Amino acid sequence: MNEPLLKVEHLKKNFPIRGGVFSKQIGAVKAVDDISFTIHKGETLGLVGESGCGKSTTGRMLLRLLEPSEGKIIFEGNDITKLSNRELRKIRGKMQMIFQDPYASLNPRHTIERILEEPLLVHGVKDKEARQKKVRELLEIVGLNSYHATRYPHQFSGGQRQRIGIARALSLNPKLIIADEPVSALDVSIQAQVLNLMKDLQKNFDLTYLFIAHDLGVVRHISDRVGVMYLGRMVELAESEEVYQNPKHPYTQALLSAVPIADVDYKKERIVLQGDVPSPANPPSGCTFHTRCPLAFEKCAVERPLFKEVEPGHFAACHLHG
Ligand code: SF4
Repeated sequence: MNEPLLKVEHLKKNFPIRGGVFSKQIGAVKAVDDISFTIHKGETLGLVGESGCGKSTTGRMLLRLLEPSEGKIIFEGNDITKLSNRELRKIRGKMQMIFQDPYASLNPRHTIERILEEPLLVHGVKDKEARQKKVRELLEIVGLNSYHATRYPHQFSGGQRQRIGIARALSLNPKLIIADEPVSALDVSIQAQVLNLMKDLQKNFDLTYLFIAHDLGVVRHISDRVGVMYLGRMVELAESEEVYQNPKHPYTQALLSAVPIADVDYKKERIVLQGDVPSPANPPSGCTFHTRCPLAFEKCAVERPLFKEVEPGHFAACHLHG
């Protein structure tokens, strides 16, 4: 495996809950509750879980779009957790984000040229001709044409808009791209095209991805390893095929049993999880999954299971595994 590009150590994000006349803090939502993982150069780490499990909050913290409450983010060997905005600006180009809804993230009043030029301007590319040349190159790289530069976001289809979002993310030659549900809003046939484009770009430009999704099927096609989150915690992490063929955590098993994946050995009858995901403002004690876990036993409600290596390279947080 290549050397680490990004290391996350004991990352936490608490959002305060305020109430009363003086708007005092009366609690906290533990959106991300002590997670650690590494992303190696050139790999794609998929991050999956139900809505509200903390995966998008994690992605935003890695780019410092949200400030972590605790923990460390180490990028290229440097701790970037406490960098000032000015210091951050220097490395921002190396870490970029692709959003789920490209339409919401593209200014409808700006031409594509202006949208793609903007990051270049912010990072000091003063020569107009150089910027225009780069814009044309970027459009071609993502499978669009240079004449698209004069058009506006509403003149494109959803798939084309996501290509523009990808072009913008590539404009500063990043090393790491955090893709937050980048194909969830697209038709299935278009999803495959965008995923293939992302794979090609990864090869051609030596990119590393954190690919966030709620759909285990989508993540499988692009990820080298997959991490599964539940209620702010990482519950399983392993090589992609290992997760799909040999899931260790009952939550991963339940998620997989609901996904129609034709070619996995892991075939079990559908596990229907009881109840809703509990509130992260008041998470269950012990293993936070115990209120829904079909295999829960006494210890589960009392003791938090450690996230540990249960087989070489395969991590899980469950009392059934040690
Ligand atoms: Fe289920 Fe217990 Fe394992 Fe949690 S620790 S996943 S409740 S068996």
